[in-house]
Parts: sequence; C-alpha cells; structure tokens
Amino acid sequence: MVKYIFVTGGVLSSVGKGILTSSIGKMLQVRGLKPTVIKIDPYVNVDAGTMNPYMHGEVYVTDDGGETDLDLGWYERFLDLSLTRENNVTTGLVYKTIIEKERRGDFLGRCVQIVPHVTNEIKHRIRNVAKTSNADVVLTEVGGTVGDIEGLPFLEAIRQMRLEEGFENTLYVHVALVPILDVTNEMKTKPLQHSVNELRRIGIQPDIIVARSPKMIDSETLRKIALFGTIPENAVFCSYNVETVYQVPLILDKQGMGDFICKRFGYNCNVQDFQEWQQFLTALLKPEHEVNIALIGKYAGLTDSYVSMNEALRHSGAACKTRVCITYLEAEKLERNPECIKDLANFDGIFVPYGFGPRGTEGKMAAIKFARENDIPFLGICYGFQLAVIEFARNVCGLKDANSMEINPDSPHPVIALMPEQRDVKDKGATMRLGAHKVILEPGTMAYSLYKCREIYERHRHRYEVNLDYLQILKEKGLCFSGRSADGRRMETLELPKNYFFFASQFHGEFKSRPSKPSPEYYGFVSACLSRKLGKPKPIFD
Ligand code: GLN
Repeated sequence: MVKYIFVTGGVLSSVGKGILTSSIGKMLQVRGLKPTVIKIDPYVNVDAGTMNPYMHGEVYVTDDGGETDLDLGWYERFLDLSLTRENNVTTGLVYKTIIEKERRGDFLGRCVQIVPHVTNEIKHRIRNVAKTSNADVVLTEVGGTVGDIEGLPFLEAIRQMRLEEGFENTLYVHVALVPILDVTNEMKTKPLQHSVNELRRIGIQPDIIVARSPKMIDSETLRKIALFGTIPENAVFCSYNVETVYQVPLILDKQGMGDFICKRFGYNCNVQDFQEWQQFLTALLKPEHEVNIALIGKYAGLTDSYVSMNEALRHSGAACKTRVCITYLEAEKLERNPECIKDLANFDGIFVPYGFGPRGTEGKMAAIKFARENDIPFLGICYGFQLAVIEFARNVCGLKDANSMEINPDSPHPVIALMPEQRDVKDKGATMRLGAHKVILEPGTMAYSLYKCREIYERHRHRYEVNLDYLQILKEKGLCFSGRSADGRRMETLELPKNYFFFASQFHGEFKSRPSKPSPEYYGFVSACLSRKLGKPKPIFD
C-alpha cells in the first residue's frame, strides 16, 4: 500500500517547506524506502514558465521539459530523482483539465463544482504520480500558507484522502514559524497555534508539527506546541537555523523524525545509508580552500533566481574541498560604471547565467570580454553561452554590431537567431526548446574531458541558438564548438582551447547537479578557478 505524506505551512511563506519535504524524503530514502514528491502551487498559472524569476525565483526544468516550481529542484537534489512535469500541480493546470473536459462534454448534464470535480482532479493527479513512480511514499507539499483562499481546494482534497486511503496510510505534517522576540528573548508559539487552528477548521488535524525557529526549541515550548496542537510531545520537531540546508535531514533525524514516521506507517526499517550525505556535508562545511566568483546577472537582487546555479557551484566546491563565495553583480551596473569592469580581476572566476531580453546584456558581454582577454576562468550558461558567441563575433571576428535577434532583430550580424521551429510560435507558455536533449561531444575537447563520454543528455530552455551562417568564421578565429545536437545543427558547448578555462553551454548543467555528483561543467569551472588561484597549470580532467 502506498503511503501519503502531506506537508502544509503556517504563519508565513518561505518557512522552508520545500527543504522540510525534501528532508523527510531523505530520511525515508536512507531507510531503504522509495519516495517521490509532488509540489502543489495554488496560483492560476498553468506552470511556472511564464513567471518572472525576480518575483518567484528560478523556473526549474525537468527532463521531460516541464517548467516547474524551484522546489522540484530541491527534491531532485536531496533525493537524486528525476521528476516529471506531473510532479508539479497548479490551480491553472487543474482548472485547464476540468474546463477542457467540460467543453468536451465529459460532465454532460451535471453542474461542475469545486467539490467534487476539482478535488477529484487533484486527488487523481496525486494518485497518478503514486502509480507511475512506483514509490513507497508520496510526499505532497502544499504551497502557500494555510488560510490562503487559493489553497482551500487543495487542502480539501488532501483532507478527503485520509478518508479514502485510511489513517494508517496518510500523515499530515504542519510546519510553522516560531519566532523569538528580541525584547524578551522568548520563543513565541501563538502564531503557530493559530495556524494549527486554521488547519483544524478545514478539518485537518496534523500528526506532526515542525517548529521553524532560529534555534532549537526548549522543552517548555515543545510541551506547549504539543498541548495546543493535540499531539504527543514526540511528534513535535524543530527545524532550527543551520549553516546549510543540507544539514536539515540530519538534525530532524537526530530528533527521531525518521523513526517516528516509519513507526507510524508500520515500517520496520533502520537507517542504512547517511554516509554519502555526511561525506558531502563534511566537504562542504570544512573546506580547505576558497574561491571567489562573480555572477553577472539581471536578477542579481534575488538569489533564488539562480538557486540551481548556486547549488551546482556549491556541489562542485565540495568536490574540490573549496568554499565557493558568490558575489552577485547587476549587469546593468557594469554598463553604467564601465570603470568597475577592471575590478573583476579580483575574482577567481566569472560566471554569466541564463537570462532573457536586452537589459544588462552589454554589461554581461563586457564581463565576458574581460574574462577572455585576461584569461580568467569563465563559465556561461544558456544566455551566457549566446552572449559569449556575440562577444567573440564582435571583438575577435570583427563583426560590428553582431547580436542576438532577441536583443536587436535588425542586427547586421545576427549570430544568435531564432530557432526555425520557433518562428511561427505565438504562445509564450511551454513553447521554448525544453527538457533533456542529446548532446554529442567531440573527443579531445574540454567538454569531452569533463563529461568523459561522447553522448550526454542535458536540460534546455531557450528559443534562440547559434546561427549556422556564422559557424565558419567563428571557428576560423578560434572558437571551438565542442558539443552539438544529435543532428549536428545545434551548437551546444563552446570553448576557447587557448584559454585557461573558457567554457559555455547552451544547456543548463545545473539542473542535473547533485550534492555528491556535481555537474561536470560546473565542476570544471570551480576546479579551474581553484587551480589558477593556486598557481597551477591549466587543468586537465582526464
Ligand atoms: N533568452 C535566450 C533564449 O531564449 C536564453 C534563454 C536562457 O538563458 N535560458 O534563447
């Protein structure tokens, strides 16, 4: 019988539900169980693809091309899973399905209602993931905060699931903020009590309460939470501030949460393997070196815009026992203050991430030029790759005003052009080139030595690509396209063989980076930053 765990949050958003859900999954996984995770997002967008990363954080991309909430990234990183678009359920998606059915006449004669039609569709989607994933435990994180209007149908659906799946197969976990008041240095449980009451009003009595607080709750606070939450004291846990989110599964497991859940589900299993996780953590928390990386971005004010990239850099850092310090620089500021470009020499590496639209692109290209000319390790991802091509076309090939058609559709040298299949696309949602595609790597190149194989699958999210009309001149002047699509017509990776480390990819390696298995391109970059800092010769990854 598959088991269902539902995670809700109270008091305010960003209490770390995503990390908590991932951590519960991890505690089950190290006990030999197979978890999968669903994220419910109560907004009306059909998927996250059309949302501005500056408001909502990065758009995560799954192998099957789903544009999802960034929490799926946390689930994948913590659990080393490859999830699908089905693992993200939004209000928009649920309603779209129901309205399509209604128009087809599937409900003929009936009035279509939130209960039961919307709630049935939600339950169907959760059960469908259970079926297709073959998981032992399906964790469902309900986004937003208990009490939000838009979350109600989802809470009603998960309430019904206990009736239908049985007490022994369902578990409700509620996490809420327990702040400490500066004035009295006291832990305050009242907001948490209110959010538990709100949950009960909807008909859900939590089985586990997790207090999210700056430090470990004292026994008095714990007793209070248990009493007002009507749960035993051993069902109250605390997720306190730690240095890195990767510690959360360990601190909760130490408090007995993993054993508690297993006992509740009647599983007879012990922790088998936290070792790999521990080793990663030790490398992460006790580094021997440090590198400083400048990230030149358009959404630099919100680090969540680049969360998978940050994490891929950290995973790579752990693999080289190196702390990776990232400085987020607004690309536009470099445009306004060109004299600041030279300060980039203080960094061990320059990183240009994904992006859209013209804003900040000149600043990013100035940074790329600086990296290329001063031989500072450089990694460019997606837009970073495209801008590296433009910079090279302009400043090395002498193609004046070369540009991407996305930035200047009238450029005399559109070295980056719209993909042919994109030309007639009108809708913005889910129409980019998305998801995992095969990339063929050229033996003898940096790309090949990093990935150590000829064929790789990496995830994509773009509309534009290298214009084949300019391939010849770019190649002649020394730009090597070391990775291409299976048909050879799409440029996927570039490198400058003469430089210490100058590498970029049209794909996004960060989406497949895992704590103990860093993305090869990020690993190459971070280790190059380190070896250059240590004065070592250009790294060879064979
Ligand atoms: N804006 C570029 C494109 O659509 C790059 C996209 C990205 O960086 N993800 O092709």
